[in-house]
Amino acid sequence: HRKCKRESENICKSLISVLLCVSSGLVYDSLMQKHQCMCGNTNSHPEHAGRIQSIWSRLQETGLRAQCECIRGRKATLEELQTVHSEAHVLLYGTNPLRQKLDCSITPMFVRLPCGGVGVDSDTIWNEVHSSSAARLAVGSVVELVFKVATRELKNGFAVVRPPGHHAEESTPMGFCYFNSVAIAAKLLQQRLNVNKILIVDWDVHHGNGTQQAFYDDPNVLYLSIHRYDDGNFFPGSGAPDEVGSGPGVGFNVNVAFTGGLDPPMGDVEYLAAFRSVVMPIANEFAPDIVLVSSGFDAVEGHPPPLGGYTLTSKCFGYLTKQLMTLAGGRVVLALEGGHDLTAICDASEACVAALLGQELDPLPKAVLEQRPNANAVRSLEKVLETHSEFIFTSCKKKNWSLFVRLLPHNWYKLSDFCPPLQVSTGARCTATHHGWDSPCWRPNEETRRRPRPSAPWLLSPWLTPTPWIKGEASEPTSTGYFYRPFFTSSPTTFCIL
Ligand SMILES: [Zn+2]
Ligand SMILES: [Zn+2]
Repeated sequence: HRKCKRESENICKSLISVLLCVSSGLVYDSLMQKHQCMCGNTNSHPEHAGRIQSIWSRLQETGLRAQCECIRGRKATLEELQTVHSEAHVLLYGTNPLRQKLDCSITPMFVRLPCGGVGVDSDTIWNEVHSSSAARLAVGSVVELVFKVATRELKNGFAVVRPPGHHAEESTPMGFCYFNSVAIAAKLLQQRLNVNKILIVDWDVHHGNGTQQAFYDDPNVLYLSIHRYDDGNFFPGSGAPDEVGSGPGVGFNVNVAFTGGLDPPMGDVEYLAAFRSVVMPIANEFAPDIVLVSSGFDAVEGHPPPLGGYTLTSKCFGYLTKQLMTLAGGRVVLALEGGHDLTAICDASEACVAALLGQELDPLPKAVLEQRPNANAVRSLEKVLETHSEFIFTSCKKKNWSLFVRLLPHNWYKLSDFCPPLQVSTGARCTATHHGWDSPCWRPNEETRRRPRPSAPWLLSPWLTPTPWIKGEASEPTSTGYFYRPFFTSSPTTFCIL
């Protein structure tokens, strides 16, 4: 009966979107499969054509493709590529064929690979006939989809594209990437549609060094990456938590950099915690006009340690998508980046598209919701919160908000340590909203039940001091207010009281 109900609900939702003429969009072109190493051996090249082909088939088999609007991609123009890349880079990799390109002695960026093919490195192969077209098609497809979502022609979208883009820097191809599709789409949104605030979330297991570089000093593009970092020992080595942006862009580059190797590997619990404590609060505060996702699926279980090693379920990505859909009026576009385990990337794509269509997702196991993130993850999250709390405060001041309060409940968190979170006193001059007190995961124990339950909006004491049950530290009072940072282990909370 429940399954039946869910199905009929899903049909209703599809009907509604048809009536409103806004559906989820997909973009794909089989020409992108032609970017293949000339050695022809897909086993030695994990970023191969079968990736997008299998995802596209999966979306067909599951009926998801039929519920979406499939749009046509196109090759990005050289001018469009130059919004992010240098002219030399665009000419070298975007035009075709330049005969002398393959002569590795004349064009030292290309090397002869052990497999017999050509590439800029053993990962980043080059097919003289097809690679430039495929790479430009990947960019143009993402741009087309993003523009249709930005102009509300489509509700949201998923781009099944390759080669990926987030490692591609201004003048450097690397890590399977030549042109940074998501970064180019964001630049074009700024230039052509005057989109004010763009959020780029990058959940590929690798740091998107190219995207970070493209917007490092831009306060209108918030780049937020969750990746395996291991103190710089995981590819590409960038993405430290203290890489926060430069100039006016300071605070608009957020690296949720997991360190601690695979002991134990990060999984759903750790990524959900990252979303709860860092990604969603900062994204909400930024209030983007559109969300672009560098959607690599190499954090999903099935990727060996050198290429990921984490153990997320594909299902989890549906939940992460759903959370992002609460931003920017639901304008969310996912573009495929990395991930090469076919089962993993097909399952994850399916989960994300189902989420974009508004379908009800299989619930996450209770154990996952209740489990505490591992110690390495907690340390990593603490580090990024500590680094960014300063900028959260700065942006409050900039916006002249009279009050900004961030309260982040974690279901793994022992309530007995932290309840109520702040001293409640009548007659205080600040009010605050709160999130999570009524969360189903929030189960007060006997001791906390006896304490008075604050009513929302809370009245907070302006003379905030750490109480016995909130271990933390408060800043010296300043002319504008206080900054309060409870210790993460006792409270995953950042407050800024002005
Ligand atoms: Zn090869
Ligand atoms: Zn990756």
